[in-house]
Amino acid sequence: MEERKKQAGTGRVARLKKLIIGALVVLLILPNITGIYLIIKQASIERRVDYLAKEVADMKLQGISHLGRLDGGDRLAIAEALLDDVPDGAAPETAVADLPDSEKESGLLSDDVVWTFSGGGDVSEAPHKVYLTFDDGPSAYTDDILDILDSYGVKATFFVVGKESESDLEAYKRIVEEGHTLGMHSYSHVYSRIYSSEENFTEDLDNITTLLESATGREPQFYRFPGGSSNSVSSLDMHRFINILDDRGISYFDWNVSSGDASGELLSAEQILLNATSGIENREVSVILMHDSLDKPTTVMALPAIIEKIQKIEGTAILPITSDTEPVRHVE
Ligand SMILES: [Zn+2]
Repeated sequence: MEERKKQAGTGRVARLKKLIIGALVVLLILPNITGIYLIIKQASIERRVDYLAKEVADMKLQGISHLGRLDGGDRLAIAEALLDDVPDGAAPETAVADLPDSEKESGLLSDDVVWTFSGGGDVSEAPHKVYLTFDDGPSAYTDDILDILDSYGVKATFFVVGKESESDLEAYKRIVEEGHTLGMHSYSHVYSRIYSSEENFTEDLDNITTLLESATGREPQFYRFPGGSSNSVSSLDMHRFINILDDRGISYFDWNVSSGDASGELLSAEQILLNATSGIENREVSVILMHDSLDKPTTVMALPAIIEKIQKIEGTAILPITSDTEPVRHVE
């Protein structure tokens, strides 16, 4: 009788042991499985968000313009329509006359030289170097912008912020792989955070540097301050941040031509074309500020016409920013 009780007791303990071990195994595995599930789920939600963002952008494009969607062959039609609407800024014959005297005397131009850089030639000697720059990307429009640049064989510069979805990482990669310059525009783009202290600026700089380097395998060399180096939002003297960039050998660029697309209201593609191409024939270096952003569809619409108009101006070369580029800076 006692013996049987004992045996029953041992059996119960063994079952209890099994139960506890089983429960422990489940407790250990469950978070991992849940974690993996959530990661997969997050990736699919991000893809969905990207897709929807693009849909919204396309709908906006259809809504705001008689020119219609931006896809495929329509681009050329849009460019032509825009160029018809806007008078030519500078006819090739007047380009030389419009130049400042200093430039004429520097020997950059002579009457017997034909400057056709869009079709070849030594671009380093082009009298009018033009840099197309796009801030705030990647966005749902980055691929459209890259497609347009590609169709004209033109290289540009993207000053990007930190975004980590699959399509954003692809965008960073595509920018670099297609020969454009990938510059930094801070990780967070939150003025109050970046410009509040040297520590916060440095931390943000580390974040965007690491992200771009791991996405593309290349260390970014160029920076554009959110709001520009002449911004009025920084609570500290901008030279403190400029010194941090200097210490790392990072060169910063502002702009001397604004497309105006940062303004609160959505500008028409015609207006952006006019702004972005104004005075190029009078400058040796034009750094044009534009935005790669979901709420700036007219910039993308204007881009083909902007490129065509610049290429029509005698002596222009459209180039990506490199270490040879003469910096345009609001604050030295
Ligand atoms: Zn910005």
